[in-house]
Amino acid sequence: MVKVVKFGGSSLADSEQFKKVYNIINSDPDRRYVVPSAPGKRFKDDIKVTDLLYKAYNAESEIEFDCTFTTIKDRYQSIIDELGLDLDLSEEFDIIENNFKNKLSEEYAASRGEYLNGIVLAKYLGFTFIDAADVIFIDENGNYDDKMTDPILSKKLAEVENCVIPGFYGSSNDGNKQIRTFSRGGSDVTGSIVAKNGRVKIYENWTDVSGFLVADPRIVKNPEVIGTITYKELRELSYMGASVLHENSIFPIRSQGIPIVIKNTNRPEDAGTLIVESTCHKPNHIITGISGKQGFATIMIEKDMMNNEIGFGRKVLQVIEEAGLSYEHTPSGIDTMNVIVELNSFIEHEQEILANLHRAVQPDSIELESDLALIAIVGRGMRDGRGIAAKVFSALASKKINVKMIDQGSSELNIIVGVKNIHFKEAIRAIYDTFITNDQN
Ligand code: ASP
Repeated sequence: MVKVVKFGGSSLADSEQFKKVYNIINSDPDRRYVVPSAPGKRFKDDIKVTDLLYKAYNAESEIEFDCTFTTIKDRYQSIIDELGLDLDLSEEFDIIENNFKNKLSEEYAASRGEYLNGIVLAKYLGFTFIDAADVIFIDENGNYDDKMTDPILSKKLAEVENCVIPGFYGSSNDGNKQIRTFSRGGSDVTGSIVAKNGRVKIYENWTDVSGFLVADPRIVKNPEVIGTITYKELRELSYMGASVLHENSIFPIRSQGIPIVIKNTNRPEDAGTLIVESTCHKPNHIITGISGKQGFATIMIEKDMMNNEIGFGRKVLQVIEEAGLSYEHTPSGIDTMNVIVELNSFIEHEQEILANLHRAVQPDSIELESDLALIAIVGRGMRDGRGIAAKVFSALASKKINVKMIDQGSSELNIIVGVKNIHFKEAIRAIYDTFITNDQN
């Protein structure tokens, strides 16, 4: 059974990382389809090759261009030299330089990081190189065109024993074959598309962490790694800010039920996190993860006898829609309705929204509050649990944190609480301690 293995930028940042990748691939003959990112950061203040490419393309002077382009060339050359590869990229660089100077396109420029890294990695592994531009097609919104891609890619994959397909880019789906990229971090999406079309048993996504953590390590010290998580739980956690995978990377394989495993190139022996469609695996704890975001505003609308007014909610949400905003939650009371929106986008349209709300629903009053952080407590185990909300609230009460909003969806997959921004971190730590550190199971 075939596996697709995607390696992120930090896994391919220099020759030492390439050697680790080589060993990982060669330790398992099923690892036949390889998707690389461009070389990432080697140390904290280093610059990713993709960022260098954007910089070179938008250079304001010839000196800036030459200097940046030379840095890019040197990054690849040192990998080639240190691995002792018989590979000369000078012709490729001449073509790229020419296309940069002719201002071919920024997406073309950004894609060259993956393209060149794919050539180097294919040479090192002795695998067939497949240019993503020939097999992956992307529409005008930056999404993959499955109808065009799937027949071509699946046929190509069936023809090769093993291959390297660069991540992050493909061709436009309009027949012009211009290079297009996914949004940043999009090599994850390529990995998923290859997994779908290669009919693989698992999509291994290799990065520099040993999986998804239960909570943000910048907030909770040494949080536990999540062993198994479902697509839905992952979606909830990523939406609220936890990020390891590109958010679109689930879609191509979702319908196929192909699991993804997040693995650490620097610690391949760690189990990592398995992401599945559904599972009977009991989670280690009643909750799977906690994530959150700061920077929300609440629009609090009050009107006597609101509960009798048909269409009130629709009119309010229409005002929000017409301002081009999406809303997060709408907790409501008998004569009150609250709409929670992202603060920065709201501020831009604040007065227009207020005026339109007055016109649309003639409220008694509208108050605004701009100091809200949302925390999501997510877990498939919560459905059968008892007293979970009570535990969340007593954790917060024990730290004297006031809960400003509560939302529990009917899926019972999550509970969302709103607290003041200043309580954000302390609230997450209190919830973590209650459900994970002090868990008696
Ligand atoms: N190299 C691209 C980026 O930096 C894509 C990726 O790494 O997935 O965003």
